[in-house]
Amino acid sequence: MLTGLQVTFIGGDARQLEVIERLTELDATVQLIGFDNLQSSFSGVVRAKLTPEALVSTDAVILPASGMEEDGQVMTIFSSEELVLKTTHLEAIPKTCKIFTGIAKPALKKLCETYSIEVVELFERDDVAIYNSIPTAEGALMMAIQNTDFTIHNSKSMVLGMGRTGLTMARTLAGLGSKVKVGVRKPEHYARAWEMGFTPFYTKDLADHVKDIDLIFNTIPSMIITAQIIAKIPHRALIIDLASKPGGTDFRFAEKRGVKALLAPGLPGIVAPKTAGRIIANTLGRLLMEDSEKGGR
Ligand code: NAP
Repeated sequence: MLTGLQVTFIGGDARQLEVIERLTELDATVQLIGFDNLQSSFSGVVRAKLTPEALVSTDAVILPASGMEEDGQVMTIFSSEELVLKTTHLEAIPKTCKIFTGIAKPALKKLCETYSIEVVELFERDDVAIYNSIPTAEGALMMAIQNTDFTIHNSKSMVLGMGRTGLTMARTLAGLGSKVKVGVRKPEHYARAWEMGFTPFYTKDLADHVKDIDLIFNTIPSMIITAQIIAKIPHRALIIDLASKPGGTDFRFAEKRGVKALLAPGLPGIVAPKTAGRIIANTLGRLLMEDSEKGGR
């Protein structure tokens, strides 16, 4: 249990409701900042404004999946007031406190480094990334279905990158009867893709593999679907770029050539906020319990 642990939520979206519920169940003392318009009432939860005083005795700060923007803004869908984290807030947070976020942009990392506060990026963890790959693949399928006039079954699809998201995407497509090519750069990934029944190829040979493709799902977070590649893709093909912004596609050239290309960030929070919230809640609950046990609470 998390009895006696003070946890402060600063901003967030629907996913945070699952996390608040879980930490409340675990008996943490929960404080909400930036939740003024939230209707649901969690018992025992207190609400506060973003002030240094509100943070002086907190053991953990939970930021939204997107963390903090470069100008200090923290997103919240539960308040019309702006939330901006400042140096005075970081100064007030105890050094033993950890800040949990989905991803930490450079400004948040720098701020935490300056004030010697540990920041934990939940989306960097393998377990969270693998669980998140499930709603991501489902969301990508939804987009594919909405933006094509053919079935996934019997289509020729391609997944670029065979990491945590790519593997789930490839398996999901194959499960629906698509013929799946997987682009990799390591021989061991090539071997694994072949063992799993996909058609592997090396991404350096990408240009040779796109000429009859129907669907491309990119998970490689660097420019891979270049103008030269797009020039070889059939006009009917759809590119869904799952890699973090700005994606790995030359969107300008795709538009010019009339090939539909969609950047699809943040799918878990869009298509399955409850599941995505539970993924965060389960991991966060476990991490806080481990910390609590280590600290002899
Ligand atoms: P990951 O496990 O690190 O997988 C990335 C894959 O890309 C790895 O297999 C890596 O291969 C490959 N790769 C990287 N650079 C490459 C290059 N230059 N050429 C060939 N292959 C390359 O990451 P992930 O968790 O699957 O996430 C992938 C991307 O999707 C990230 O940008 C992540 O932020 C994003 N994402 C988006 C959503 C969404 O909703 N759209 C959801 C989850 C994740 P090696 O092993 O050879 O390096």
